[in-house]
Amino acid sequence: MSLLDRRTVLIAGVAVTLAGCGDSKETGSTSTPGATAPTSTTPPPSTTVPTTTPSSTPSTSAPTLTSTAPNWNTFASSLKGRVYLPSTSGYAAAHQLFNPRWDSVRPTAVVKAANPADVQKAINFARTNKLVLVPKSGGHSYVGASTIANGLQLDVGALKDMSYANGVLTVGAGARLYDVHAFLDRYGRSLPTGTCPTVGVAGLTLGGGMGIHTRTYGLTCDRVVSMSVITADGKAHNVSASAESDLFAALRGSGGGNLGVVTSFQFATIPATKLGFFRLAWPESQAAAVVRGWQKFAQSAPTTAWGNLHIDAKSNGTLSIRVLGVSTTGDATAAAAQLESFVGVKASDRTLSVKSHLEAVRYLGGGTTSPRQGFLAGSDVLKGPMDAATITGLLGAVKAAARAGTPASAILDPLGGQASKEPAGGSLWPWRGALAVVQWYSSAQGKPAQTFIANGHRAVRSSSAGGYVNYLETGRAVSSYYGGNVAKLQAAKKKYDPTNFFHTPYTLS
Ligand SMILES: Cc1cc2nc3c(=O)[nH]c(=O)nc-3n(C[C@H](O)[C@H](O)[C@H](O)COP(=O)(O)OP(=O)(O)OC[C@H]3O[C@@H](n4cnc5c(N)ncnc54)[C@H](O)[C@@H]3O)c2cc1C
Repeated sequence: MSLLDRRTVLIAGVAVTLAGCGDSKETGSTSTPGATAPTSTTPPPSTTVPTTTPSSTPSTSAPTLTSTAPNWNTFASSLKGRVYLPSTSGYAAAHQLFNPRWDSVRPTAVVKAANPADVQKAINFARTNKLVLVPKSGGHSYVGASTIANGLQLDVGALKDMSYANGVLTVGAGARLYDVHAFLDRYGRSLPTGTCPTVGVAGLTLGGGMGIHTRTYGLTCDRVVSMSVITADGKAHNVSASAESDLFAALRGSGGGNLGVVTSFQFATIPATKLGFFRLAWPESQAAAVVRGWQKFAQSAPTTAWGNLHIDAKSNGTLSIRVLGVSTTGDATAAAAQLESFVGVKASDRTLSVKSHLEAVRYLGGGTTSPRQGFLAGSDVLKGPMDAATITGLLGAVKAAARAGTPASAILDPLGGQASKEPAGGSLWPWRGALAVVQWYSSAQGKPAQTFIANGHRAVRSSSAGGYVNYLETGRAVSSYYGGNVAKLQAAKKKYDPTNFFHTPYTLS
């Protein structure tokens, strides 16, 4: 491979020479998909979160482990992909995540892998040079876990090839959700996923993956039939229910960045059917009744029915109370009526519609792409229905934010149905028996957002079993994301990453 560009850069006080790997790689014009500002400005109407501005000081960092200057020239020459050092043209875009609050975290280098062999080489290089390595797929980590100061960010975004045969999707770990849906739509197929079009399939799947199909078909991770993963020793594994089933089950729910770098997934797809939608809204005076009724709906609606409850602080100090519902039967009339009967009060605003698979994907995602957003968020997994005092506390937490002028939402996603069942092949996603996940979300900066999230946690403490690993928070015990599966996950970590190579404040140990 020819070395077409050389420039001297200073990294960690050591002057090294950067060598690029080819003509097109030396222009520095390649942008990171999640780092560019897409055109859509429509706020997603569902589990996705409002437009925001950057928030408080990032805490993503790793111990500085570099002892001698790594030989970047030799490493870069060995790759089909590309290495970005801080002085490389394109580094600024290459290291960005979806949330701009992590822009100030500057990895020692960004490696954009072009194939699984590059992933292996990057892991081996980082291990040899005692660099902490974090994988990045879609870059949507809530805590910036896919970037790292004094470490190597391994971007698998270019591994996004897809193929489909006999109901099974094979997809590279770097694919984004909209691209997956658009591809599957050609075959009349779909996949249960989250709604944000730019979320990466890898991060979403490894942490579970909740969305409108959760109750009918389970979590995204439940549909995985096999995965190709490269572990800390640089070895490639193809794991499934019948091959290294302990690693397979652990990857299905442990969250990204813990046990290895997944390079591709095989998923059992679902039919891409038309979907019935409802949107129901009530005045704030009915808020407690709506929460009670929604809890009954989450407990006893048919598995074809799903609906998430949004309690939003409005800028005038009041609350907006609404449920966005979906029926996989194609008609949401009965589901909407059932929810209204559980609430005991007719909705003040009511819309029903039917959408094709791809129309639904675009509607839920606010388009085909999503602009970068700054936010602070957290979660609680609800063990079961909240009692009256807890509901009052939850509503009070959002109301306090509304009164303080803090943009804030509590978004409650139901579990149950197929998500309550252990999938074939096993999974260590810990919340099979839970009722719902409540997300505390704020676009505010610093303290106001932190206060809202802390108030939310406090309000539902008696009903909370822990947190959802795809909604990581700083300062929270890692074990709180794993419920009763902590010991099993730690055993898998010890077996497949005995030196704790994949190590950040958010990983298992
Ligand atoms: C706007 C928005 C909407 C969202 N909507 C939903 C939703 O509807 N449902 C839902 O369940 N979640 C949702 N999420 C949460 C989302 O699922 C998680 O943030 C997820 O981890 C993001 O995956 P990613 O690949 O985009 O992120 P990344 O930041 O790239 O990765 C997340 C974690 O996985 C690791 N990782 C990345 N790639 C790999 C790999 N190939 N192998 C191993 N580890 C890897 C990273 O190191 C990091 O720790 C949403 C997030 C945002 C920001």
